[in-house]
Amino acid sequence: MELYNNLSTYFRKRYGKRIKKICIDGGFSCPNRDGKCGTGGCIYCGERGAGEHIVGGADIAEQVKRVTDKADRSELFTAYFQSFTNTYADTEVLRSKYDAALCDERIVALAIGTRPDCIDEYTARLIAEYKKRCDVWVELGLQTANDETAEIINRGYKTSVFDRAVELLRRYGIPVVVHLIIGLPGEDDKDIADTVEHLAGLDIWGIKLHGIYVMRGTRLAQMYESGDYTPPTEDEYIRRVIYVLTHTPKERVIHRLTGDSPEGMLIAPEWNSDKNRLISKIQSKMRDEGLTQGCKL
Ligand code: SF4
Repeated sequence: MELYNNLSTYFRKRYGKRIKKICIDGGFSCPNRDGKCGTGGCIYCGERGAGEHIVGGADIAEQVKRVTDKADRSELFTAYFQSFTNTYADTEVLRSKYDAALCDERIVALAIGTRPDCIDEYTARLIAEYKKRCDVWVELGLQTANDETAEIINRGYKTSVFDRAVELLRRYGIPVVVHLIIGLPGEDDKDIADTVEHLAGLDIWGIKLHGIYVMRGTRLAQMYESGDYTPPTEDEYIRRVIYVLTHTPKERVIHRLTGDSPEGMLIAPEWNSDKNRLISKIQSKMRDEGLTQGCKL
């Protein structure tokens, strides 16, 4: 029994095999850090703008080749622009960066992580052009649909801005993946339920779940150290992930159940340092309780 519709299953059906991801640092910045819409960034964001695992420091094609040169001729890849805000530049700059990433015929998908307030008509039109060359999707960091939490985490835009970005991207036929963080300050089970309900009314393709990371050097770390923030327990995290899965339609693709712990940077929660162990606990609980994606709808 398939517990949930995960990305590997989706790729296996589409290409008959697993697709490897190449995480790229495209050399972008973020308007929530450089003062355009805010400073300091989201309170959980580290210096690398969510790209802690990426060995950057090279041009884009070189980052891609580091992976593809070592791979077998039959392997296929997704080029994933992960760090910072990957639509935060003029369209010609964006075009040159995306083109640089598609430098090997084995790259069958282009994934672009960004903020919804950095999507406009020009960007959407540009991204849509890449559909002729490969699979394309945009990953939007919503984290929560609750605007009060958005203020606390210094997200820098309202949920209505996200809704408009989804609508615009869909008008250009671009699939949207939504990033959610479970365990944000002040959020409980009801906030998760509200976010899931909000997403139910939107035309999205996939969901990517992240457990909260309290990383060194972040404002969240200061809140944690001063006692103003307590991360959820592992059981709370598992319960909330399962809530999201069981209340998400079966056709939506689950891109991940938790993130990769940023090595050497994690202060808390300790249970979030071993991704595979956590995933296997979530899956066991679902199996034991006879739960599958969408079963509570
Ligand atoms: S939008 Fe992304 S890159 Fe910018 S501050 Fe927030 S988490 Fe960091």
